[in-house]
Amino acid sequence: MKLKIAIQKSGRLFEDSVKLLKECGIDLNNGKSGALRTEAANFPLEVLFLRDDDIPQYVEDAVADIGIVGENVLLEKGKTVNKVERLGFGKCRLAIAVPKGEDYSGPNWLSNKKIATSYPRILGDFLKKNKVNAEIHEISGSVEIAPGIGLADAICDLVSSGSTLFMNGLKETEVILRSEAVLVATKGLSEEKTATLNKLLFRIQAAKKAKHNKYILLNAPNDKVEDIIKILPGMKSPTVLPLATSGWSSVHSVVQEDDFWNIIEGLKANGAQGILVVPIEKMIM
Ligand code: ATP
Ligand code: MG
Repeated sequence: MKLKIAIQKSGRLFEDSVKLLKECGIDLNNGKSGALRTEAANFPLEVLFLRDDDIPQYVEDAVADIGIVGENVLLEKGKTVNKVERLGFGKCRLAIAVPKGEDYSGPNWLSNKKIATSYPRILGDFLKKNKVNAEIHEISGSVEIAPGIGLADAICDLVSSGSTLFMNGLKETEVILRSEAVLVATKGLSEEKTATLNKLLFRIQAAKKAKHNKYILLNAPNDKVEDIIKILPGMKSPTVLPLATSGWSSVHSVVQEDDFWNIIEGLKANGAQGILVVPIEKMIM
């Protein structure tokens, strides 16, 4: 039995979702946008292309076994599925924004105001948690124009760069959710499909890990090698090889993107030269 995965048909998650499958070595020969379903040529996977709003329901109902969807949509729909893995793309935040000139002092500012949003459930939970009474006005798109046309006093919408807010004379005042794309699975997946999912997950994790890590090579005088090794974490411990020039060694290791620049500075300060940094395609730990 093939594992069925639901991904967004078109939109902000489509490309990264297809790319992730490709990085897992899965060949969607005819997975062009526009198709409704396709089968992988070299992995027991069938792909369904859907509106992102529908993915939680399809996965809850086991029409799709697994799916890729934003946490924002997942929470808003309130469906019962298993969250399997955060995927590191589709990052955005759900935020409150008010007209630029307003003096927003905190959630209480929203009392008795009208807030336009496509996320009534998440916003409602936020208001309840903060004991604020406000009117939620649900609209399905173009939320950012609501204050300008007199439909609402504030909005609650997805933001990534903030430029849409700026263009509409709004300022972000409160982040109520940070979201990214996640892999979800239906409850009670069969043993056979769970095995396929685990195989896929193993590949996803290898691709994800590789993205966060770089392979680094450098040259160092032998008397500095010990200090340099202390800076480099490495998967086990760094590889040290003698150079043709006596008194020098070549050091190889893997470093994490997060503290990448700090490490490079530390290496230079300790006499490292000819530092090369190369991307890693897959990492199997
Ligand atoms: P669909 O037609 O599938 O319903 P949509 O218009 O609802 O698509 P998109 O705008 O394509 O949705 O966004 C899909 C998801 O991408 C969002 O739910 C969110 O998780 C994520 N996302 C990332 N950045 C942003 C952003 N700046 N604005 C909106 N969504 C974002
Ligand atoms: Mg949608």
